[in-house]
Amino acid sequence: MNSDNPADGSARIGSRSERHYWLPVSNRERTGGVRHAFRGARWDGKRADLSACGERVALAQPSELDWILSPACLTCNDVLKEENLGRHG
Ligand SMILES: [Zn+2]
Repeated sequence: MNSDNPADGSARIGSRSERHYWLPVSNRERTGGVRHAFRGARWDGKRADLSACGERVALAQPSELDWILSPACLTCNDVLKEENLGRHG
């Protein structure tokens, strides 16, 4: 069987979940920052984006330390969780 049917790749549209990625955002006022969630598969180098919690923030390549020092944003976490619940329920 030769399965080079191009329709195969798009057959899963109905079950595709919305993708998001997490990225530490440094805070100007204090050391460390918060890890916000953003729409998309991964950060593509854009300099600013709207987080899942609705904040417009500046983005930059995070260091390893940024990941360690930045706890996940609880609001972003809630937003994504609710979207997942809605999707399944
Ligand atoms: Zn957030």
